[in-house]
Amino acid sequence: MLRSIVRYGARELQMPAARVETFDATLQTLIDDMIETMYAAPGVGLAAPQVGVAQQVCVIDLSVGKRGGELLALINPEFVERDGLQLEEEGCLSVPGFSATVGRPSRVVVRALDRGGVVRTIEATGLLARALQHEIDHLEGRLFLDRLRGITRDILVRRIRKLQRTGKW
Ligand SMILES: [Zn+2]
Repeated sequence: MLRSIVRYGARELQMPAARVETFDATLQTLIDDMIETMYAAPGVGLAAPQVGVAQQVCVIDLSVGKRGGELLALINPEFVERDGLQLEEEGCLSVPGFSATVGRPSRVVVRALDRGGVVRTIEATGLLARALQHEIDHLEGRLFLDRLRGITRDILVRRIRKLQRTGKW
């Protein structure tokens, strides 16, 4: 089932999400819905707070469903290692129509549980490393806007506020 994606300004996007403790049917439905919603958007990643669920769950698929085996569903993800630096353009399904260059580590190692509750370790560079950091940021209540420096961030936020005021957000 498709879920609606909340946008910048929603409280859910600013709160740290809770760790998942039970791997029940509700969790499996949430993950299936998030995958469907991500592909429909379309997007390469989606975190549970973006569909209004304050739990540490995110899905990533850089191929947006076009290549098998690239889909990741991660629960309670944590960084084990982070190094290097990459500067790339980044956007977010909760901040539609806006993007900015964000500096992030270029390589990460993440430990997470898969949807069956099995521990998985993922080493990633480039775009996948960026996607993992973007989604884990969501689980900590952070948006890519929060990673921008003062003026760049202020300009984007002012433009979004204007859209909000005029009912176009
Ligand atoms: Zn996002």
